Amino acid sequence: MRMLGRFLIGVGLAALVSSSASAALLEPRLHLKPSGESSPRVALTLDACGGKTDTRILSALVENKIPATIFVTGMWLKRNGEALAIMKAHPELFELENHGARHIPAVDTPRSIYGLKSAGSAEAVQAEVEAGALALTAHGGAAPTWFRGATAQYSPTSIALIRGLGFKIAGYSINGDGGSLLGAHETDRRVSAARDGDVIIAHINQPTHAAGGGLVKGLLKLKAKGYAFVRLNDVDDSGTDGTTN
Ligand SMILES: [Zn+2]
Repeated sequence: MRMLGRFLIGVGLAALVSSSASAALLEPRLHLKPSGESSPRVALTLDACGGKTDTRILSALVENKIPATIFVTGMWLKRNGEALAIMKAHPELFELENHGARHIPAVDTPRSIYGLKSAGSAEAVQAEVEAGALALTAHGGAAPTWFRGATAQYSPTSIALIRGLGFKIAGYSINGDGGSLLGAHETDRRVSAARDGDVIIAHINQPTHAAGGGLVKGLLKLKAKGYAFVRLNDVDDSGTDGTTN
């Protein structure tokens, strides 16, 4: 915990230094529009940034019939054929959307965000978004309608650019796993505290991290409480900063 705290302080300082160089970035929020139904609904969104697949999460979603929207990169698609096949075999559960070609933050000015170098220009943002969509269809997925950039941060102009390419931008309202770096208990606590209309973000590409086990616990608690899970395309969504309308 102490080490995590120090890491987060380090990230905070880096963010301060980089934000002094140019305007602040936006981290849009996303909620589900009220349904008028009595039972609470949440959307689970999982990022597959790169790396491998957390099969604890994937198996739990299949076994418990919990639908999710999965944001995949071109890099992840190349290396995770087995997991992709499982997702494609369950179209009633998994909606696959665009997390970019190479996990490069979709920010059109040069800067560093959580240690990742931004795309740095409008052309590079467009390439990241369009090549991410192409990778999905090349792997047999449907054409994506949602985009979430690496780090989920944008400039106002990159938001306009991505919207102009025809994508809605997926923010979130609950940071479930703190970039997959939180412990199991804290991840469970955050996820199981979700309320009607929340959009949860977590990661499915870090099988060795404790957060994945906590995510499964939290999701099963929500299910036991009678929560319904929806995908972003199943419902009306409301995002800040011009990300969905
Ligand atoms: Zn990511």
